[in-house]
Amino acid sequence: MSDQFSELTSHFSAHSSFIITTHVNPDGDAIGSEVALARFLSDKGKKVTVINQSTTPDHLQFLTDVYPVHTYNSEYDKKIIDSDCICVVDTNSPKRFSALAPAVAKSTAFKICIDHHLEQEAFADLYTIDTDVPATCELLYRILSSVDEKGITTQIANALYAGIMTDTMSFRFPKTDAETHSIASDLLARGVDPYVIYQKVFENGPLNKLWLLGKALESIQLHADGRIAAMVLSRNVFADTQTTEADVDNFTSYVLSIKGVELGLVFVELSDGTKVSFRSKGEVPVNELAKQFNGGGHKNASGARLKNIVFTDAIEKVLTASRQFINNRKTL
Ligand code: 5GP
Ligand code: MN
Repeated sequence: MSDQFSELTSHFSAHSSFIITTHVNPDGDAIGSEVALARFLSDKGKKVTVINQSTTPDHLQFLTDVYPVHTYNSEYDKKIIDSDCICVVDTNSPKRFSALAPAVAKSTAFKICIDHHLEQEAFADLYTIDTDVPATCELLYRILSSVDEKGITTQIANALYAGIMTDTMSFRFPKTDAETHSIASDLLARGVDPYVIYQKVFENGPLNKLWLLGKALESIQLHADGRIAAMVLSRNVFADTQTTEADVDNFTSYVLSIKGVELGLVFVELSDGTKVSFRSKGEVPVNELAKQFNGGGHKNASGARLKNIVFTDAIEKVLTASRQFINNRKTL
């Protein structure tokens, strides 16, 4: 067994009842990591419950065939508090699983964090974080292989592949490297059909999502001499297209697709605030910008939520900071 993960994996053996959770509005990497880890531990005879703050989005429902995923309510608190080991995957910030955070904090369970985001926050007993990997699922593949390479069944391989495919935006984001492709190759050798996973994730959406995308594209405006592009999605747009914020999926790539744009912003009006997605090209560290709004993430992809401020004011506030941020940097 590789030394690198031996402390972590000794906790997989040592405990018998596990809770697994991830961040709000989970993506493919979040759900993929959860169900892969849950199925692996369950196959080893462990009691495992996956509980999330948000419901699983439709295009990721197929992953819950690998292992069931529950949506949190306060009746789960006792289970969380009484568990032996809590594994938080694909986030390192309790703010990002805030509904479960009080029960997690209260529990005396051993707490593990497996993640690939920058700037970890203090809540876990053991962190296994690699900010160089493009997906938590890639790190998890290495961890699970170090325990029992044969334990990575086709089902688990499907979940890991889905996580890697979605977090790399189909193997094109900057952190995608030879190791990512070599892991994907091994997962295919274990029975993953890439076309089937692609279809389930990307060719399975409702028409309304495209109507929403149409309105979203129309809303894009340029700022700072074309170096910033911003997309705005108000509650009205969701109402008009009969969609919700869960249908905003990878719209950020359209904002960055514009020539000369270095910083992309997507503003989503939530029922209780504003969600901002920050995206950048090359060396522009948007996590620094997101931090100004108590957010975080990666160098090229970060997010933040602004509460107690009117949507249009939130947009102005973030745009002002963004103009300042980008004007302080040389053009790409
Ligand atoms: P997205 O814009 O796709 O929601 O998120 C992009 C990245 O930023 C993800 O890696 C996510 O973990 C991180 N992120 C998104 N929202 C927040 C937030 O409210 N707080 C923090 N700390 N990170 C966020
Ligand atoms: Mn991820």
